[in-house]
Amino acid sequence: MAQPTEPGTEEWPCPGFAVHPSLPAGLLEVSLDWCEEGRYTHHCPNRQRVIDYTCACSETSYELLGVGGRYQFRRIRRSNLKVVAYAGPWQRVRAVELWRLLLKGEAR
Ligand SMILES: [Zn+2]
Repeated sequence: MAQPTEPGTEEWPCPGFAVHPSLPAGLLEVSLDWCEEGRYTHHCPNRQRVIDYTCACSETSYELLGVGGRYQFRRIRRSNLKVVAYAGPWQRVRAVELWRLLLKGEAR
């Protein structure tokens, strides 16, 4: 689990509630197909629920979303202009597997 940082020491203080995904160490196991918000036609915000998420102190954070029985990732980049992108959707088993790889730094 993450350690909270002192307030004011970072641009985005770490609340310490969520995991920090590992940075990719070498070749990715899986390269995800990210689609920036607005161009994602299956995107249905009303039925989304956040199942898991990574710490928001990083420049890039990720969320695992459940959308009407299917699952997708949301990637949020906070630098300069906020950029949101989605990957998926997948069936639950595949989504959980990919989420685990993402946290380990083996999928991006
Ligand atoms: Zn953090």
